[in-house]
Amino acid sequence: DYPDVPLGAVLAGSASRYRDRAAVRDGDQVLTFTGLYEQAAAFARGLRAHGIRQGDVVALHLPNTLWFAVAYYGITLAGATACPANPAQPARALRAQLADCSAAAVVTHPEPAPVLAEAIDGLPVRLAVIVPPSASAPADRPDDCAKLFGKAGTPLEALVAGQSTHPPEVLVPTDSVAQYGYTGGTTGAPKGVRILHRNIVANTIQVACWRSGALPGLDGEGGVVLDPLETSGDYALAPGTYATLCISPLFHALGLISLNFFLLCGATTILSGRFDAESYLEQVERHRIAYIPGAPALYHALLATPGIRTRDLSSVRAVVSGGAPIDTYSLEKLTEVFPNAAVIEGYGLTEATATVSSGPIAKAGLRKPGSQGLPLFDTELEIRDPLDPGRKVPRGERGEIWARGPQVASGYLGRPDETAAQFVDGWLCTGDTGHLDADGFLYVSGRSKDMLIYKGYNVYPRELEDILGGHPAVLQASVVGRAVPAVGEVPVAFVVPAAEPRAMAEELMEYVAERVTPYKRIREVRFVDELPLSPAGKVLKTELRRLARTTRSPGEPPS
Ligand code: ATP
Repeated sequence: DYPDVPLGAVLAGSASRYRDRAAVRDGDQVLTFTGLYEQAAAFARGLRAHGIRQGDVVALHLPNTLWFAVAYYGITLAGATACPANPAQPARALRAQLADCSAAAVVTHPEPAPVLAEAIDGLPVRLAVIVPPSASAPADRPDDCAKLFGKAGTPLEALVAGQSTHPPEVLVPTDSVAQYGYTGGTTGAPKGVRILHRNIVANTIQVACWRSGALPGLDGEGGVVLDPLETSGDYALAPGTYATLCISPLFHALGLISLNFFLLCGATTILSGRFDAESYLEQVERHRIAYIPGAPALYHALLATPGIRTRDLSSVRAVVSGGAPIDTYSLEKLTEVFPNAAVIEGYGLTEATATVSSGPIAKAGLRKPGSQGLPLFDTELEIRDPLDPGRKVPRGERGEIWARGPQVASGYLGRPDETAAQFVDGWLCTGDTGHLDADGFLYVSGRSKDMLIYKGYNVYPRELEDILGGHPAVLQASVVGRAVPAVGEVPVAFVVPAAEPRAMAEELMEYVAERVTPYKRIREVRFVDELPLSPAGKVLKTELRRLARTTRSPGEPPS
């Protein structure tokens, strides 16, 4: 059974066990586990002293800085609901999110503060906390940006001044909403998902259990701890080990589950500023980083860095790709550049807190290229007929992926119809298509909505993207459908070419045609410098579909 405790118990358990070890590092600024706990507790008390009550929503409008962690845990210790928001989004989109979740307070940073001030104009936001600049997110604006928010503006120092560093005495029910997680907005407007305390604690424990095989339990004080404490072993994340987040935005499910998971393990999360592949690799080398989670966009950027093979990346023992499909060829290249790492894929979605399945990390574990692994502990997967969701399809056959487990959230915020359609009897309809093999390994073919139908045949873009990824002239590829009267949709590939060798469109189309049944052939290749990405680093296929309907390309890669 899972410890039935709120998220604060994970923080408390780690603070009592790992104390003076570094929990989060941002340039030269370091917060120890004790420091993080105490600052989060003072933050929680400050919120309550400023009128924030249990159940109030506090939006986190912050880049990846130390203060994100302090505020996130502080909000949940106060019994309020955290609502992470992308700090780079324009005022209009931000306003829509803040209105949707009825934010009572916001936490922001001097750099994006003016956008926030514009977004909340006229909304009933009572408090705006402004955190100081940090190494990863410096700001050249004056500290008095609190003025922007008039009476609501409160600098962090003023919020926590004189507050005790013990958490407020609030009973936080484990079935209360810890977080409104907004989906990535890959297919439309982001949706707010009601993620309960027990969902987050369960998913954090499931990920830790997947890594170590041991189920965390409670210490004498009610804190969640890993037991036995792992300090050695091939994939141990022993306390004091450096982990890295860098690029995964903390406002997204993948970033947050990593933060929680590293917290539970006692590993250090290193945050860094705006992404730059060279300095990312430099940090991996300098800090002897052990574990890298990230979306495929991170790995494609790293693989495109000319000096990657000259770096000493031997410290890395796990590279985990998730959040979007990655081609098997890129995974293979990652295995070459990270010689000591298990390179694996995970699968998940905001509606399931973050993670549903993952490739085995242990050395002895069977890794299957192209698979997103086995369901996490206590998670069930079923593949069902999309036209008759009550019917499971036979093993090996494709269908819609359904998942059940303690990490499945309690529905959407303010969307009863979509909640009723996707959250059914404890099961989550993921909206993704895939199959399970004889060993129970999951293979995600893609979003059900991305599948194309050509003359009645189903065509899965992921299969074609995987094949294209194997051509040496291709750095990255994404396939979408273009409507053609009378036949349905034909596949069009958008290709980011590798620096060398070069290949013409015809050559790539032929390469695919040699490897698939004729109805799946790619009918057009467009060369692009980069693929349009969502803030969470996912390819925006809606945008590519729009492009596919318009101009044609000359069919040769840019010189
Ligand atoms: P929105 O629902 O707003 O369009 P989104 O679907 O991107 O956004 P997220 O929760 O950020 O919302 O992403 C979950 C989706 O990401 C999954 O449903 C799946 O389509 C995709 N995904 C996650 N991991 C993988 C993976 N390893 N391989 C393929 N697809 C993946």
